[in-house]
Amino acid sequence: MGSRFEITPYAANDSLVNASIQAAIDEVKRIENIISEWIPGTVISTINENAGVKPVKVSPELFGLIKRCIKVSELTDGAFDISWAAARHVWKFDGSMTALPDQVLIDSMQYLVNYKQIVLNEKDTTVFLKQKGMAIGLGAVGKGYAANRMKVVMKQMGVESGIVIAGGDLITWGEPEPGKLWPIGIADPQNPHQAIAWFEVGPMAVVTSGDYEHFAMIDGKRYGHIIDPRTCFPVEGLRSVTIICPDAELADALATAVFVLGKNTGLALVNQLKGVECLIIDAEGNMISSDNLQLNRYSEGQTRKSHKILIGTK
Ligand code: ADP
Ligand code: MG
Repeated sequence: MGSRFEITPYAANDSLVNASIQAAIDEVKRIENIISEWIPGTVISTINENAGVKPVKVSPELFGLIKRCIKVSELTDGAFDISWAAARHVWKFDGSMTALPDQVLIDSMQYLVNYKQIVLNEKDTTVFLKQKGMAIGLGAVGKGYAANRMKVVMKQMGVESGIVIAGGDLITWGEPEPGKLWPIGIADPQNPHQAIAWFEVGPMAVVTSGDYEHFAMIDGKRYGHIIDPRTCFPVEGLRSVTIICPDAELADALATAVFVLGKNTGLALVNQLKGVECLIIDAEGNMISSDNLQLNRYSEGQTRKSHKILIGTK
């Protein structure tokens, strides 16, 4: 998935530790081979190839994932939209882009980016993209979904507690030590290997979207890899968005959505959602948190290395 994964099972014996790590890796590979829009032959690639042509039958698992993505689109008024992928060949965030894409090209794909044109047939579990040229990409939820699944697989094998970090997406279960919570550091966008703030959580997902890992530098300006579906242009204004809630897939989707919605609208949305908290770091480095997030900040001179579990480092 183009990201660094860390898998830490806490179990009584080495053979369970090793077997569960292997099972978690197998699970990520399985998921990647279904949802990648870059690997030819995946179900997602087949859906994209058949845009404007015909519906494609998918597994109940993938159908459910796409359906939940569309729910998040509805919740966020289209800020989150997996059909952003019509623009996937126009923007490259691997350092290879040297000039902005042609505005005429961008304009020509605008009508293709619209989740309302993704047709789901519940009975047959088919997915149909109405227009030729449309495409879907699950990059904004893939790691969160994978983190959830890795946790489930390991738990089912009898691993009582642990932590999985999939890129900037983290999920914990159980306790690090009896009666203890997990200390989680939020990566500093300026210096992603250091924490800028920290908090403690029980079983929880903590997911960060940032502009500091995948971006294009054009004429000295940074363009991050989250696209505003209304303009097909990278979103500006925030450095990172961290969402804290029990479900890593939802947290992943919401982190991307809040990035697009911006500080005020994004924060207002999160404050309406029960059991969901967020921390936003804006372009000036200000930290803005949702109503119920108990955040610890570092005082001057305090070492930031004391919190080992860092998120947002990929
Ligand atoms: P990260 O990979 O940093 O965790 P995200 O979870 O926010 O970041 O995912 C960013 C990816 O989501 C992009 O690389 C792209 O694949 C996809 N994407 C970009 N813009 C959108 C959007 N508005 N809605 C849904 N997916 C998007
Ligand atoms: Mg995301």
